[in-house]
Amino acid sequence: MPGVHQHAPGQIAQIAARAHQAGVPAVLLFGIPRDKDERATAAYAEDGVVQNAVRAIKQRAPDLTVITDVCLCEYTSHGHCGMVQRDGEHFTILNDESVQIIAKAAVSHAAAGADIVAPSDMMDGRIGAVRRALDAAGFSETAIMSYAAKFASCFYGPFREAAESPPQFGDRRTYQMDPANGDEALREAELDLEEGADILLVKPALPYLDILWRVRERFARPTAVYHVSGEFAMVKTAAEKRVLDERAAVLEIMTSLKRAGADFIITYWALELMEWLRS
Ligand SMILES: [Zn+2]
Repeated sequence: MPGVHQHAPGQIAQIAARAHQAGVPAVLLFGIPRDKDERATAAYAEDGVVQNAVRAIKQRAPDLTVITDVCLCEYTSHGHCGMVQRDGEHFTILNDESVQIIAKAAVSHAAAGADIVAPSDMMDGRIGAVRRALDAAGFSETAIMSYAAKFASCFYGPFREAAESPPQFGDRRTYQMDPANGDEALREAELDLEEGADILLVKPALPYLDILWRVRERFARPTAVYHVSGEFAMVKTAAEKRVLDERAAVLEIMTSLKRAGADFIITYWALELMEWLRS
């Protein structure tokens, strides 16, 4: 992904502070651990890569909102978002065991200072489990951004390569949503709200503007949209080939996301966007 890099924990605070100075209100952290294993133990380590990064950012830029992705796929050796039971070619995701580990990871992020945790795994019951675990650990102020509508999409491809987390076998379609089924997204969003979600997230963005609009209209709750890596790469590639003007295209896309109801936009253009909006 052009212009998108992995950063070492030592540099992250400086980069976050620069973003904060530019007017970016929040950052979303994804971690790539040194070691991966079957049970994703690095996901909830006190000195894990995300936990260390949150502490460093909060020291340098205390007012910058820090959101952490909470999932296991970057931490499991098999690349799935949860614990897996394998039987030859077949595999099952162990929902309840996975949810417990996800809740543990969320608590460790909150303990490090994260303002918002964002469980992105799509396991059943994860929002309620995370909320209970946070409250029990004394982090009732930590908010939850739920990936209420995360569709099985080809547009995640570039990120997966960048985060070194493509599944080693099978795919994630068993636990991501069918793009043809819009109603399911609304049911999931409703469940997540009942379980205690504070912000609902729709992902990807442009092919799912109708979902964003419906979620925002139906529930009237803070709604975020994630403009994902494949969507980013499309515009970048077109701009490099001089087929599109990058700035004009990005501003039009971001406007459409706002128009469709987004209260928050997660984008790889955040820094440039702040500059473009000011000039
Ligand atoms: Zn995942």
